[in-house]
Amino acid sequence: MAPPSDRNGCARRRVLLLPLPYQGHINPMLRLAAALHARGLAVTIVHTETRAPDRRNLPAGYELVVVPDGIPPELAASNDIPSFVFALNRNCEAPFRDILTGRRALREGEEAAGEGEAGRVVACVVADVDWFAPLAAARELGVPALALMTSSAARFRVYLAYPRLCEKGYLPVQESNLDTPVDELPPLLVRDLHVAMDTARHATYADLLDRIVAGVRQSSGLILNTFDAIERADVEHIRRETSTPVFPVGPLHALSPAAAAPVQQSSVLPEDRSCLEWLNTQLPGSVLFVSFGSLVSIDADEFLEVAWGLAGSNRPFLWVVRPRLVRGRDSVELPGELLEETRGRGKIVGWAPQEEVLSHPAVSAFVTHGGWNSTLESMSRGVPMVCKPCGGDQLGTTRYVCDVWKVGIRVEVEDKLTREGIKAAIERLMDSKEGGVIRDRMREMCDVVSKCTTKGGCSDLALQNLVDFINLS
Ligand code: UDP
Repeated sequence: MAPPSDRNGCARRRVLLLPLPYQGHINPMLRLAAALHARGLAVTIVHTETRAPDRRNLPAGYELVVVPDGIPPELAASNDIPSFVFALNRNCEAPFRDILTGRRALREGEEAAGEGEAGRVVACVVADVDWFAPLAAARELGVPALALMTSSAARFRVYLAYPRLCEKGYLPVQESNLDTPVDELPPLLVRDLHVAMDTARHATYADLLDRIVAGVRQSSGLILNTFDAIERADVEHIRRETSTPVFPVGPLHALSPAAAAPVQQSSVLPEDRSCLEWLNTQLPGSVLFVSFGSLVSIDADEFLEVAWGLAGSNRPFLWVVRPRLVRGRDSVELPGELLEETRGRGKIVGWAPQEEVLSHPAVSAFVTHGGWNSTLESMSRGVPMVCKPCGGDQLGTTRYVCDVWKVGIRVEVEDKLTREGIKAAIERLMDSKEGGVIRDRMREMCDVVSKCTTKGGCSDLALQNLVDFINLS
């Protein structure tokens, strides 16, 4: 049967993709858009006004619809993720319904299609798992809706298990049970679950996870930015528990060519590409790349401990110090004494082209917060990790990186983060026999990622299954 045409006479089936407007969620969704587009589907990115990409930077063939979100800038800039996500779902459900019912145009500057038309044009919706209201709206309007989990399968298992974890007393987390193993989710300890300790925030978070899981259970399927070779058991578990089709298509950044995905252009902050020139002046395998992702904030004294730890490592380093990395501060200066000590071997930028940096031969290791995208990006380049997780999924990911896949080392923190802890972790990775084994294992991991994502590999096949599923839906 010939594929249906949309109203522009195009034979491609159209997929609407809704990223959550955080960098760590936008990047994998845009990479998924690129992968689907490369396999013959037409893509429309439906984005909130908050952090909307510039349409002039989108590759040919992409459509962008920006919907009003009514989010106050203070909320968008805050780290109150549950409140932000609830507000987005509340405010964007109606404009999203309008797109699906044809009351809002699918293309900028065009007339709306008219009642009932868009259902014919749109083959499928792919929304971040956090978009529970649009997922429900699509379902109600009879449009197949798939959810994308941008973090790990293990993290989604935490979401699924959440009510049971509360019943069994693991949650809310208390000081006294931090080192208790979570029997239902090995190898995680209670401290790795990272959820709010105070009751009010815990309740809001529980409510959010409840809606996310309900949305996924009722969706047409779940897309995971992971791959069988590292999380097969977790993926299988999710399949059994949700009774929904599950597509482990990751790492998404490795599946779709960078040029086809407008990731750089949709950076929330402007990239400082001078760091690539600086890397060109450094010896191969010498530089520590240091970045704590797009959201984490640390205290000023922790920041200084990291700085002195890097100085003490006696290695060149490239450090991303973005606005609000130090809690409450738009910018931060290093003390003169420290600048003197690291002169010529320390480069600081506000935002880096991370994937290009990790691919650079001068980079030897990644000092990271253990964000899921950063972890996958590091694995696909074979760059071993020094993990300093700060919260959220980073704690569980660090557990897997260091104790299961054994491709990184955790910064040991007793009461608080110290310069000695940073320096010791770097030295363990770079100078010890144990570190040598970890570095070798990360090189092997790079080959595994490559096999999974090339033709016939597990992620390539999962992506084809997903495309077939969309085409048949
Ligand atoms: N990133 C980047 N430049 C930087 C820092 C981060 O391009 O200087 C990108 C990085 O490549 C990754 C994303 O931002 O794709 C961060 O996502 P991650 O899941 O690692 O962490 P989060 O920001 O969600 O905590």
